[in-house]
Amino acid sequence: MVEEWLESAMKQYNQASYDAREAYPAILQMPGKLLGNLIQWCLEALPDEILVGLDISSERQVRKEVSQAFVGPESRDDLFAGQGYTISEAQVVNRGNSMTVHHLPEEWTDEIFGAERGPRGGRFTHWLHTHPNAPAIPSGPDAAAAQWTEGVDLILGVEFSPAWGAPWVDGVEGERRMVAGNKRPEGEKGQSWFRQRMAREKRPVLGKAATGHSIHGIELIAFHRSGVGVNILFVDENNLPYGWPFPDVQ
Ligand SMILES: [Zn+2]
Repeated sequence: MVEEWLESAMKQYNQASYDAREAYPAILQMPGKLLGNLIQWCLEALPDEILVGLDISSERQVRKEVSQAFVGPESRDDLFAGQGYTISEAQVVNRGNSMTVHHLPEEWTDEIFGAERGPRGGRFTHWLHTHPNAPAIPSGPDAAAAQWTEGVDLILGVEFSPAWGAPWVDGVEGERRMVAGNKRPEGEKGQSWFRQRMAREKRPVLGKAATGHSIHGIELIAFHRSGVGVNILFVDENNLPYGWPFPDVQ
């Protein structure tokens, strides 16, 4: 079961995905239950980032009425591997810093194909990694690692406190998509550690994680190796997006 605050956040995210549908060439469906797991795994691995391999199930095809609602002028149905199917399996395969997280331990790679498949060995369709206390915006190493991804790359940003060992990263520029909470205001340059801490403590708490952390914000993006964004929808057990059918906002 998905917690209520998270479910309502996913509804809003889906509505925003729907409103922005014409700007994206494709959609990707993620089970809402998985989002809850990913947040927990992210916090359990602190201060490291984690790399999660994702696969699809041929039994969970995107429903026709949903895919049709997202057809727009930019739409393509052959953009990435696994397109048209909901993510069904997820496995944490590595942890590390923003560079090392992309380099898989040996047990996950097949040495024969290593050279052709890149540092992550091409074992999964999609890849997600976390940005603990940082915006979900791809870094240089993220964009480089994505070049071998057959499906899409996803980045999950989680803002939380207390932030032992993983203080908020300021000054990252790019387009962000919040799942829950608002964007954390940028800290002022030269602001003391104490004032920054005070600012953080005023951030609204959305929910409590099993690790004891307070969650202040969640953001998620998906992108194809060519650099274009992919529109994410969170779905329930019936493979229907939370909030479906979406009202047209004029
Ligand atoms: Zn990254």
